[in-house]
Amino acid sequence: MSLTETLTALNQKELALADVVASLWKRIEEREPEIHAFIRLADPEALMRREEALSSQPLRGLPIAIKDNLTTVDLPTTCGSKSLSGFRPPFDATCVTRLKAAGAQVQGKTNLDEFAMGSSTEHSAFGSTRNPCDPDRVPGGSSGGSAAAVAAGEALAALGTDTGGSVRQPAALCGIVGLRPTYGRVSRWGLVAFASSLDTVGVLARTVRDAALVLSIIAGHDPKDATSLPLPPHDYTENLETKDLQDLKIGLPREYVPPGLSPAARGLVDRWCQALQELGAEVVEISLPLTEYALPAYYLVSSAEASANLARYDGVRYGLRVPGELMAEMMAATRTAGFGREVKRRIMLGTFALSAGYYDQYYGKAQRVRTLIAREFEAAFQEVDLILGPTSPTPAFRLGEKADPLSMYLSDVFTLPSALAGLPAISIPGGEVEGLPFGLQLIAPRLGEEKLLRAAYALEAALSA
Ligand code: GLN
Repeated sequence: MSLTETLTALNQKELALADVVASLWKRIEEREPEIHAFIRLADPEALMRREEALSSQPLRGLPIAIKDNLTTVDLPTTCGSKSLSGFRPPFDATCVTRLKAAGAQVQGKTNLDEFAMGSSTEHSAFGSTRNPCDPDRVPGGSSGGSAAAVAAGEALAALGTDTGGSVRQPAALCGIVGLRPTYGRVSRWGLVAFASSLDTVGVLARTVRDAALVLSIIAGHDPKDATSLPLPPHDYTENLETKDLQDLKIGLPREYVPPGLSPAARGLVDRWCQALQELGAEVVEISLPLTEYALPAYYLVSSAEASANLARYDGVRYGLRVPGELMAEMMAATRTAGFGREVKRRIMLGTFALSAGYYDQYYGKAQRVRTLIAREFEAAFQEVDLILGPTSPTPAFRLGEKADPLSMYLSDVFTLPSALAGLPAISIPGGEVEGLPFGLQLIAPRLGEEKLLRAAYALEAALSA
């Protein structure tokens, strides 16, 4: 059942919260030993006990899974890193506070690539998560635990974070819905920073309606986050149902259907265009020639910001400390033991890109490219309402298959450009390639969530019919 259907059943007293929790935990017992979506789970008995206290709230006590880079007071927040193993934050992330205020409960903390750096959830210090559709394959990343939990039926919905694609790509690889809001729409307070100018909190859900429902709860201005947009809360489920998409013009960028895309994937893209046309939308080919520069720009900007953000894990303030004679020795030993290979790679890359003499050549240039990419989208949105394409170039790959970092990075070619531009985007199930889920991505202009969700909702129905 979807989150919305579960809520309806609770409201009509066909189900009690205890039944829902029991059935989720039954699923967890069956699937979790193989999937490993969670780093830590709440006590189901404790969740059941709050039935009465929360029954008058909109979410009626339903458990929601939370990616383990969002702070929670109930359970430790590790970011999938040894450096934060067992760390208990003193406050909840704003998105968690809002969920709780709406009557949700924290179901558990989901696995992720260490500090959200990765596309497969293989870079977690606490072991890999597996794809529920095929356990030899990765669930994508970095919100792989959240995506796998929802896809396996272990969770009704989950929060994830998307810096360069970490909500959309795992949603695509696991065959569910993944929504990245406009940068600034959802507070980053309590999101452990990876790349602050790109980080967003997003939703992984079984349906577009569920994603819209959760967004309605977590979005809104938060004075604790200086980049939070001063916008009032909004009900994104309100205008989902429109009979057609006649008012919409959808752009399909040539660069999002590159020659390397498999024939099966191309076939799906054709099917999506046809479905959109049948819904009354106009589909036109467009071009976003700067697409190929998004990957290098993203890895320079995000790694530069990461190198600064991760300086705080010094053995003094948080988590792990490995003793040493001198303070510098203690710090070096702590960071050597606390961080995994990928995180170290990013810190080194970022530090290098920011160093005197290279700053302009690398970081400065990447920032300028980022501006050009944002402008390219702005120009495209003068002509079209939404942009369509695949979420990721391939379906889920095998564990261990992408040992070379660059081949892993390429998994995000279609999600990075919109992330650099701070745009909202969604991935919905788009059919199958090689018997595995393949995601359809829609990208909207800044603050275009309503239009985005309305089109995604109509397409979801058309493609599953
Ligand atoms: N896969 C991308 C990276 O490794 C994006 C990660 C993210 O969005 N958190 O940086």
